[in-house]
Amino acid sequence: MDFETYFKGELDSVREEGRYRIFTEIERHCGTFPHATRYVDETTQPITVWCSNDYLGMGQHPAVLDAMRRVLDECGAGAGGTRNISGTNHHHVMLERELADLHGKEAALLFTSGYVSNWAGLGTLAARIPGCVVFSDALNHASMIEGIRHSRSQCHIWRHNDAGHLDELLSQYGPDVPKLVAFESVYSMDGDIAPIADILDVCEAHGAMSYIDEVHAVGLYGPRGGGVAEREGLMDRITVIEGTLGKAFGVMGGYIAASESLCDFVRTFASGFIFTTALPPALAAGATASIRHLKASEIERARHKERVATVRRRLDGLGIPHLPNPSHIIPVMVGDPKKCKRISDWLMDNHGIYVQPINYPTVPRGTERLRITPSPVHSDGDIDRLIEALSDIWSQCELARRSAAA
Ligand SMILES: *Cc1c(COP(=O)(O)O)cnc(C)c1O
Repeated sequence: MDFETYFKGELDSVREEGRYRIFTEIERHCGTFPHATRYVDETTQPITVWCSNDYLGMGQHPAVLDAMRRVLDECGAGAGGTRNISGTNHHHVMLERELADLHGKEAALLFTSGYVSNWAGLGTLAARIPGCVVFSDALNHASMIEGIRHSRSQCHIWRHNDAGHLDELLSQYGPDVPKLVAFESVYSMDGDIAPIADILDVCEAHGAMSYIDEVHAVGLYGPRGGGVAEREGLMDRITVIEGTLGKAFGVMGGYIAASESLCDFVRTFASGFIFTTALPPALAAGATASIRHLKASEIERARHKERVATVRRRLDGLGIPHLPNPSHIIPVMVGDPKKCKRISDWLMDNHGIYVQPINYPTVPRGTERLRITPSPVHSDGDIDRLIEALSDIWSQCELARRSAAA
């Protein structure tokens, strides 16, 4: 086989579909985020980032940076091993305690990313519980899907956020069949929120374990940043809460929080937990500092809400269509992959506004969008520039507007 020709041919067909990914090369500037520098064709350009998952700007928070610098000096760069062989640093143990406390659980288990925590957590539970049947929300993240697939257990997909459909599917199995229900709280691309209480009612009626991905909610929702389940007083009814340290907490890593025995079970049987180098201690310390700060401080969450509401109101004023949802994610709908990419390029080249186009397969074809994520560190001026640029391109491209909101 001529491998090179094969690779190029496959890539060409992706390009023709307008969904070939070109990474935007940027340099984030600590202290002035969301302002950054873009590197393109041997030159640089100042830009404002409007699509980051550093939702609260914690990636540049002094408490986080101080902790990371201190522990970098104290412990050095890397962990020096897997968790099993010399790599379990005091700072990992403290972080796991902090996470267990955040979610009101007995224990927590740290992974190198949220992706790995889903893949290994779900994969291990579903594979190692004999006869386990998995029930997965139709819009679950790729990391959950891959974990479930890897387990090779039987899996049913329930209609997105439809607790009634979940109930129907669960009803096909008797009480002796072990069941695992996997879903998210805030869905990343539409920004909608699951009816968690209804789903838990159904899980409890069928004796099913519940596994929630709160990746887009931890740090952001609940009085201590424990997520939507904390806000709704539901954490103690959920079997496993999974989260990331890489989005609102501004650092890197993933985790599950659950009972002592469940975490010990995953620790013992998950290949993706044990056969990989532990996170750098400085990173663990930075994450701990971030969680601690957001447990006690409401300022970031309040300002975040206000910024999101302001951007939505300004978009409504111009009739620019965005998906209504109860979260902090603002999907501005375009509905065509090439147009979506062109608008994004134009915003960047002419206004230094960086909003990544979101195309298939991340979202269904025909629902291509610009996913805007305002943060507490976006200023009024930043918002003015975003809105003016969007208004301009909407006129130029003769894109549909909604009649201006009252
Ligand atoms: C980003 C994401 C993850 C993965 O988390 P990382 O820490 O970035 O690996 C898991 N689930 C959802 C829903 C996500 O959007």
